[in-house]
Amino acid sequence: MCKEKLIHKSGFVNIIGFPNVGKSTLMNSLVGEDLSIITHKPQTTRHRILGIVDKYNAQIIFSDTPGFMIKTAFFMQRIMMKYIERSLEDADIVLFTTEIGKFSISDKYFSILNSLKNIKNNKPFLILINKIDKIGIECDEKILYETINYWHRIFPHSEILPISALKNINQDLLMDKILGLLSEHPPYYPKGFLSDKSKRFFVNEIIREKIFLLYKKEIPYSVEIFTETFKENEMFLHIFSSIYVERNSQKGILIGKKGNYINKLGALSIKGIEKFFKKKVWLKLNVKICKNWRSDYKILKKFGY
Ligand code: GDP
Ligand code: MG
Repeated sequence: MCKEKLIHKSGFVNIIGFPNVGKSTLMNSLVGEDLSIITHKPQTTRHRILGIVDKYNAQIIFSDTPGFMIKTAFFMQRIMMKYIERSLEDADIVLFTTEIGKFSISDKYFSILNSLKNIKNNKPFLILINKIDKIGIECDEKILYETINYWHRIFPHSEILPISALKNINQDLLMDKILGLLSEHPPYYPKGFLSDKSKRFFVNEIIREKIFLLYKKEIPYSVEIFTETFKENEMFLHIFSSIYVERNSQKGILIGKKGNYINKLGALSIKGIEKFFKKKVWLKLNVKICKNWRSDYKILKKFGY
């Protein structure tokens, strides 16, 4: 028997990068499940979320992380930055993600890039230039070369791979590179284990995603979801979730006139949860006020930060 076949590889492949470049889209696509919520707005992802792939006699544990932040006004955001730091420490491979056309970044990001340069020296570090499906539609091919040149000047010794997370361009190539870089190791998680997060977590995230879709301005950033009850049988899910806001005025906006907005939110959330769990869903939503929850250590702990 071929010895190659007996080798099992496993490791942590951590996706980091700027807000909105497509980190969550990439993880979902690589894992083949919608684990991370995706919106067109920055700073949607608040947690580090694992997505596990068992394929080709390997277990690849991807981590999606929040985007880099230069200002951390709330304690929550400092915790989010910690998730990024930790994911750099325990990474076997780092996927640094940026996007086509991004070749001038604020000076304030340079301290983050400098800390990456230190980490980069002792572990595989791939630079992904995402959204190349925009070539020929929104931008010229020469923009890709400008983007590659820019990142090559910052990280001269790292491999650069243009991809599209949305249109699945070069993802097989990326997977091959990852498999080539992983070391021999037994699986870290039981086979078939998809994520480290609980079912309640995914319910909270799906509701939060719908809030990003339905509400404007600061509302999506001021809410957190806490699922109080989650009961499951073979066909049904019975869920009761609280939406925490910071102020009374936000509660009014969330509910809307005669409850029309919260009803819409409920209907959209049910659709999303049913799709994710492949079961019929009964959902009740309740809005609660918790002043300054984003800066309250105890509350953040209750919310799973
Ligand atoms: P994150 O903040 O880095 O996690 O980014 P998201 O995955 O939430 O994506 C941000 C936005 O970019 C969303 O509107 C995505 O649909 C879009 N997006 C992600 N990947 C691609 C891609 O490969 N091509 C294009 N055109 N858009 C993408
Ligand atoms: Mg994200």
